[in-house]
Amino acid sequence: MKCDTDYRIVNYGDQDSLLFLAGNHRTFIVTRDLGDRLQAGFHMLSEDEQREWNGLTELGLVSNENSIALRQSTFEDGADLAINVNLTNICNLACTYCFADGGDYGRIKEAMGHDSVDHIFSFIEGNLTPSRSVRLEIFGGEPLANFPTLREVCERSEQFGAAHGVKFVYRISTNLTLLPAGVLDLFARHHFIVSVSIDGGRTVQDANRPAKGGQGSYDRVMRNVRKVRQASDDVTMVARMTVAQRDPSLIDNMRELWRENIFDYFQIYPGVFPADDAGPPAADGGKVFLDMPAIPNKSGSSSSASSASTASSGTDSGKRYINFFLQDGMVGQFREFLAEYPRLFTPDNRFKGVLEYERTAQLVLEGRLALAFCSGGRTYFTHSPDKSISPCHRLVGDPSFDVGRGEVGLTADPVEWRGTVDQHPVCGQCWARYLCGGGCKQENFVATGNLNVLNEESCGYQLLLAEEVLRMMALSSAQYRARDRTELGGLFVSCGRPVVDSGRAPAPATSFLHFRQL
Ligand code: SF4
Ligand code: SF4
Repeated sequence: MKCDTDYRIVNYGDQDSLLFLAGNHRTFIVTRDLGDRLQAGFHMLSEDEQREWNGLTELGLVSNENSIALRQSTFEDGADLAINVNLTNICNLACTYCFADGGDYGRIKEAMGHDSVDHIFSFIEGNLTPSRSVRLEIFGGEPLANFPTLREVCERSEQFGAAHGVKFVYRISTNLTLLPAGVLDLFARHHFIVSVSIDGGRTVQDANRPAKGGQGSYDRVMRNVRKVRQASDDVTMVARMTVAQRDPSLIDNMRELWRENIFDYFQIYPGVFPADDAGPPAADGGKVFLDMPAIPNKSGSSSSASSASTASSGTDSGKRYINFFLQDGMVGQFREFLAEYPRLFTPDNRFKGVLEYERTAQLVLEGRLALAFCSGGRTYFTHSPDKSISPCHRLVGDPSFDVGRGEVGLTADPVEWRGTVDQHPVCGQCWARYLCGGGCKQENFVATGNLNVLNEESCGYQLLLAEEVLRMMALSSAQYRARDRTELGGLFVSCGRPVVDSGRAPAPATSFLHFRQL
């Protein structure tokens, strides 16, 4: 057993540590002293501790179901077929960090039309997975700027579903500044998941997501958010926040939206900036990376993300991007937020969690694993108005990544998108590998010019996320840990990260002194 590959020690509170096993996602509470010795290795156990550890092993609590389940899986497992329907090149906002060049990716010159709808349903027929469930991920530009085609897609899905015995799930990513006639009924009829891009309270939203004329968007968005909520209680509403400011703090900013009691879920993403435009400067005026978890390197030893980040200033692609959560002061804000997080679940608020945190908690608490970082190029494809088919919605702008054409379907084998985390020379040594699944390929490409060479900023954030969620779980109540998380499988968390049960057995009750089950 090797520290930071087979297990991770996470300190919490004043006296305790959590021992997290990568092989089966089981967690044990140990004393800080034992945790410190385990960082050096299992040879540091006392006789008594060793006896208990052997007892846990005999009970099957030290095991490797995750790697076995991954080895036995195929690219079709863990997530349904998902079509990202890139409805239009038009967007009416001018968000400061848009990855789509304002909606058109520098490439899309028109809105999606009737032909593409035909192509999408032929593609679905040809690529159905055994689940016979299909997700329609409605995207743009601002997709509600092409409402006629959205309506056509939904109508076709009803006909297709009835004819082929296929169930459809509908989700839209929208800034919700537009509300065309008929859209409220459409959302309600299909029980849409409406993911609204809103970065927090008025000050933050108006600064980050202004209209093209420069005026703020907060009031318009919130007016429409309330209309959608009033139209149906069966619409799942998600606030998709991008965090790119220190003030107001993450918790204060998020609470402004939480108080509205409209959103079921939140997604909280760090803003990502080119290195020469890294948002607000650090308190001392410099760009400082600190207090970060360790990223495994190819030889299996660890290097700190702080040094890794600093070292990454020159990349193969010539660009370097900064993950805002790794900047000075933000790690502290992130920790503060997660310390407060379990208290956001109250009987009088419909809040059911931050999607990425709840998914991570679910993998640990319920014995599940991620088969990959996302479904991109596995069971998730983006269809665009120019008829291109891309394995990733963020790579639409680069035709060299295309894997097909609307008229003919897939023309290339997306083999590069289907490797497993255990095959990756760095990720395969990482303690968080079956939570993370191996990193975002698009973010890798931007930083390194290679889909499979890690973007160290993104990797550092994934490690931070995994560790902080483990710490939050250790500090939370049994009631929080026992929450029903079944619904998460249908919400396309982390670009549809494919997740399966590891098959680990339910844990028998134990009364060990040194290794107490969380
Ligand atoms: S990308 Fe994910 S799996 Fe790979 S090293 Fe980083 S945290 Fe671990
Ligand atoms: S996780 Fe990254 S590579 Fe995968 S679909 Fe999303 S943006 Fe693309």
